[in-house]
Amino acid sequence: MKYGFVKLLTVLVVAGLLGAFAARPQNSATSAAQSRGLNIVVIDPAHGGTDPGARGVGGIRESDIVLDLAAQVRHGLEAQGFQVIQTRSTNENPSFDDRSARANAQSGAIFLTLHISSTGLPGTVRVYTMPDMVLPPTNGGLIPWEQAQAPYLSLSRKLGDAVQGELTQRFKGSPANTQTAFVRQLRTTAAPAIAVEISSVTIQDKADLDRMLPGVAEAIMRGVVAFRPSYVTPTVPGVAPGAKP
Ligand SMILES: [Zn+2]
Repeated sequence: MKYGFVKLLTVLVVAGLLGAFAARPQNSATSAAQSRGLNIVVIDPAHGGTDPGARGVGGIRESDIVLDLAAQVRHGLEAQGFQVIQTRSTNENPSFDDRSARANAQSGAIFLTLHISSTGLPGTVRVYTMPDMVLPPTNGGLIPWEQAQAPYLSLSRKLGDAVQGELTQRFKGSPANTQTAFVRQLRTTAAPAIAVEISSVTIQDKADLDRMLPGVAEAIMRGVVAFRPSYVTPTVPGVAPGAKP
């Protein structure tokens, strides 16, 4: 009986230490279990509200098309058992930090930001991840909000290559591998995170772009499913909540 009590105390102390290390809320057995694998996909239809994004001559607005694409990606991922969270589902424009915050509040999540470019070969699709980032020194077990992506870069590139590979099979002329680019939205996201960009709004007929969306959505779904087994919650500190601007 006494031994049992000591053992329980030890478990509580260990749990307490783990809790102190992880800045994210781990307030239930469910969230602890979920943190062991990839369960949640946060989809970010970029732009919106007062920001239409890229615009084509025919009145095509990036902000509208990425919303349509998000709905299709969501449908495909939910059919595979993923929980999907969208940073917006109407014509509104949350801030970069609000969008990242949706992902940073989850355990076992990845983040996909969706764009339509105004450049590039029409009919192709590119995946971007952040360029190399210096892993910041942790401050009391937390990393600065502004560098939240740093510990996740290698996983982001693995995810990016899985998705790009599927896209390139369907959309000839797309690059073979993930490119790197400074994408503001990715920098503050504490999860494997990629940007998917379709070319382009300069297409004459919006129907040509609409016809691409189911293939893009399926490629993203297949890439995420292929990536799923290699997802491990990195042993990284949480993001300092106080550092959020
Ligand atoms: Zn965009």
